[in-house]
Formats: sequence, structure tokens, C-alpha cells
Amino acid sequence: MQKILIIDDKKDNLIVASALLKNLIPDCITITAQSGIEGLNKAKTELPDTILLDIKMPGMDGYEVCKKLKRDETLKHIPVIMVSAIKIGGKDLIKGLETGADAYLAKPIDEYVLAAQIKTALRIKKAEDHLRKQKETLENMVLKRTDELMQTNLKLQREIDEHSLTEDKREQLQAQLVQAQKMESIGRLAGGVAHDFNNALSVIMGTAELVINDVDPDGQLREDLDDILMAAKRAADITRQLLAFARKQTISPEVLDLNENIQSLLKMLRRLIGEDIDLAWLPGANLWSVNIDPSQIDQVLANLCVNAQDAIEGVGKITIETRNLTLDKDYCIDHACFIPGEYIQLSVTDSGCGMNKKTLDNIFEPFFTTKDVDKGTGLGMAMVYGIIRQNNGFINVDSEPGKGATIKIYLPRHESTVAEIHKGSTKEIQSGQGETILVVEDDPSILNIMQTILKGLNYTVLTSNAPEKTMSIVKKYAGTVHLLITDVIMPKMNGHDMAELLRSTYPDLKCIFMSGYTADVIAHHGVLDKGIRFIQKPFSRRELAEIIRKVLDEN
Ligand code: ADP
Ligand code: MG
Repeated sequence: MQKILIIDDKKDNLIVASALLKNLIPDCITITAQSGIEGLNKAKTELPDTILLDIKMPGMDGYEVCKKLKRDETLKHIPVIMVSAIKIGGKDLIKGLETGADAYLAKPIDEYVLAAQIKTALRIKKAEDHLRKQKETLENMVLKRTDELMQTNLKLQREIDEHSLTEDKREQLQAQLVQAQKMESIGRLAGGVAHDFNNALSVIMGTAELVINDVDPDGQLREDLDDILMAAKRAADITRQLLAFARKQTISPEVLDLNENIQSLLKMLRRLIGEDIDLAWLPGANLWSVNIDPSQIDQVLANLCVNAQDAIEGVGKITIETRNLTLDKDYCIDHACFIPGEYIQLSVTDSGCGMNKKTLDNIFEPFFTTKDVDKGTGLGMAMVYGIIRQNNGFINVDSEPGKGATIKIYLPRHESTVAEIHKGSTKEIQSGQGETILVVEDDPSILNIMQTILKGLNYTVLTSNAPEKTMSIVKKYAGTVHLLITDVIMPKMNGHDMAELLRSTYPDLKCIFMSGYTADVIAHHGVLDKGIRFIQKPFSRRELAEIIRKVLDEN
């Protein structure tokens, strides 16, 4: 049902118009207002479909009301038919149109014209309403669709971001994998070369040591043999570093004077960092001793120096320093994970480019590197960290961009002094008491030299160049075999399995493994089980004599 609002200041006019409209359009409702203000208010509350508006009214006239109606967002769509008491001339018409009225009627109103006008107005209103509604739905639909589109876009963008992230990540992982594989294969290669190299060195050192005692101590031959031994030792050091790099070395901590150790490394480190970088060495006085595998010190210093070198462009300086240091509770409160106690501090300072916060935060993370793929592996500091933590030490890094870096390492003090440990080596080489030793080694030249050395040390020697033959050798032997010294890696059967086999029949058989390669094969993670001895090739006559006595004399 449609509503018609009639605004007229004269009550009679209102009644007549109402009755007229009811008659003409039976299904409509009429609302009346007797002033402009009242008309506006009713228009707002009733929202009529058409307004019949008298022009001449006291107070607010029809023009004014029409203007206000057409300016109101909620009312401007309502058709307004203006009714004038006088015949409208052109001027009034224009004025009326300017106010936005939709039609004009002059009094006296012809009821058919009125009916036609009202009906048109109502139809227009209905059509407009319909249109507006459609427009609104359309607009809503567009809005909704836009919103949906935006959401989809967002999702898509996120997916694209994530995708490219995973793509990046994948590439990164791929690079890391390649790098790790590269390290691994270089490690294997280095380890393999070191293995063969150590076997050769064993023969060189062993033979030289054997004959050195037979020559004139002041003669030229003695000097030459000393040179051979020195060169062989140097070669053994290099292979030790190769093995350290390959991480194939058994950890055997020793009580050391760190100063002595670093001193012996300086030459290698200087070679490593090149001539443009000055290497300063500031050993601390009366340094406490530490208990650590010396090869791990090599590894740590080599890594720190290479990093320092990389950080220095052109000319610069690296300082290695040691000192005794007691970390108190206060210090440890400020430094998470540190434990109060006595430490040897080893620091490496460089005049390089320094590090930003992000690098400092990630420096120990495996594979974290700021260097090009072909240069950085991101494993150096991870390795250093691992080594230091393995030895119950601590590490921290002081650095700022452009201000160089200092890496400080704290190794726990070891109570016994190094001097006591070293005493052993100045003692006479200990000989045997005729005990029987079975040597198993597939390399004939090593077997040969071992036999000669052991005989010279007053042992009875049985030899075997193949592990599968040993059982029958031991069985055939009339006396007791006290000790088995065997190579680890041999064709057909490894030394460990062979030893197990022999010990199942001869449980008292003592055993020393020797290898130029690694103890990994006989022990998990390179740490040996209790009661198993391991000697790394190449070894000196003294080292061999000492370990044999140690094993034979222990219960
Ligand atoms: P890599 O040297 O292969 O990048 P490292 O684990 O040895 O891996 O070092 C990780 C990163 O730490 C380096 O890429 C470098 O950004 C930073 N870094 C390490 N030492 C130093 C140093 N002395 N000066 C500046 N940056 C360093
Ligand atoms: Mg490095």
C-alpha cells in the first residue's frame, strides 16, 4: 500500500484532497500535515511515496519545504507535486522546478489530472525504489565481491610469499647440503690420504729411529737421520691437521701448557694468514695447565685465524693472547651459562670488519655464513663452539661493525702441572720382559718394522699379515700370547672383529689397536670404550714402548 502525504495550511483543503485521493486511488493511505514544518517531520517519520505540497503557506512555504525535502538524502527520492492556488506563470514554474519539484498542479485541481499525476508519481517512485534497491543490492554485491577479491588476493599474495620463501629456503638448504657434502667428501679424501700417509710415515720414522742408535752420534749419518726424523714429524703434524679437519681423529685429551702448544702452531698460522697480516703472540705468564686434545687447539686456532683473515681486507693485525683468569659469581651472573672458577683465557683479536648484531646472534649456528658459497661453510665457529663446550669451556665474542672482533675462549684449569706429565718422556724407554706380542698388520713394511722394534724392546713377536689367520697362529703357539697389537682396517676382517673373536677364546688377551686413520671404526663418535687402547700411526718407538707397558702392567 502506498502512502501519500498532503501538506496544506488549510484544513478544508486537506480533507477534500484526502477524500478525493481515497476515491481515485482506493488502495492508498493519506497522511496530512497543516504546515511546512509538520509536513517535513511527517515526511521523515512516514516516508510517503508521494507528497502533495501546497505552495502558499505561512511560515515555511512550499518552495522552502520542497528545497529541504530534496536536500535530505532519505527524502529526496519522494516525488513532490506542487499545488498552486493561482495559475502558474513561467517564472513560478522555473522557481518551482529549481526547488526540485516533480510536477505542478494549479487550483482548482482537476481531479483526473490529479489522479493521473499522482499515479505517475507513484509509479515513478515505485520504479525508482525498485531501481534503488537493485542498485543497492548491486552495490552490495560489488562490495562483497571486491572484498572477496581482496581476501583472495591477500591469500594469493601470502601463498606467493610463502612459496617464494620456501623456494628460497629450498635453495638455501640445497646450497647447505651441497656445501656439507663437499665438506664431507673433502673430509673423506683428506682422511683417506692421511691414512696412507701415516702408514708410510710409520715406516720412515720407525726405520730411522731403529738405525739412529747404531750410528756414530757425532757423525754426518746421525745428522741426516735427525733430518729425516724431523721431516717425518712435520709430515705427521700435517696429517694430524688433515685428520682434524676431517674430524676423523680420536679425542685424546692431554694435560698441556697452552703457551707451548700455541708457540708450536705459530709458524703454521703465519703461513695460513699470509704476509699482509701481522700475527702478534702475547703468552700469559705462569699459565695454568689445561686438559684438552692438542689437535683441538689446532683446529680452534686455525678456524679463528682464518675468520680473522677473512675479516681483514688487505693489511691488518691478529693478536693471540693467553692469561689466567678467575671468573667470579658476578661475572657469571652477567654471562649466561658461565660457571665460576679458574680458567685459562685464550683470545684472538683482529682488526677486521667486525660483526653486526645479526651475525653475532648466529655466529655459532652451523651453516651460518656471511661469505660467498665458495668461501664460507659456516661450520668453523660451530666446530669451535663444539670443541670448547666438549672441554667444559666457554666462548664469547666481542665485536662491533668496523671495530674488529675478539673471540674469547675460557678453558677450565687442570690441577696437575704439565711438568709432571712431561717427566715420563725423559725416562729411559721401558723394555719388555720377554712377553709375547702378536702383531697383525696387512702392510708388510709396517709389520716388518714393528717386529724389529718389538724384538729390540725385548718382546717375543708373532706376526700375521691377515686377520683370518690369527686364530690358528695363537692356537699353534706353545706359550701364552700376552698382547695383541692390530691394525684396524684390513681386508676381509677388521681388527676389532678379529680381536673380539680371539678374546672369546682367550679372554685375558690384551689388545692395542693402531691406525693411521681413525678410532671411529672401533668406537662410536671416536671416543674409546674403557679397557681398549688405541695408538695413532705414526708413533715413535717410545710411544709404542710406553703404551705396551701400560697395557701389560694394568690389571
Ligand atoms: P664461515 O667462516 O665459513 O663463514 P664461521 O662459522 O667460521 O663460518 O663464521 C660464521 C660467520 O661469522 C662468518 O661468515 C662471519 O660473518 C662471522 N665471523 C666469524 N669470525 C669473524 C671475525 N673475526 N670478524 C668478522 N666476522 C666474523
Ligand atoms: Mg670460518
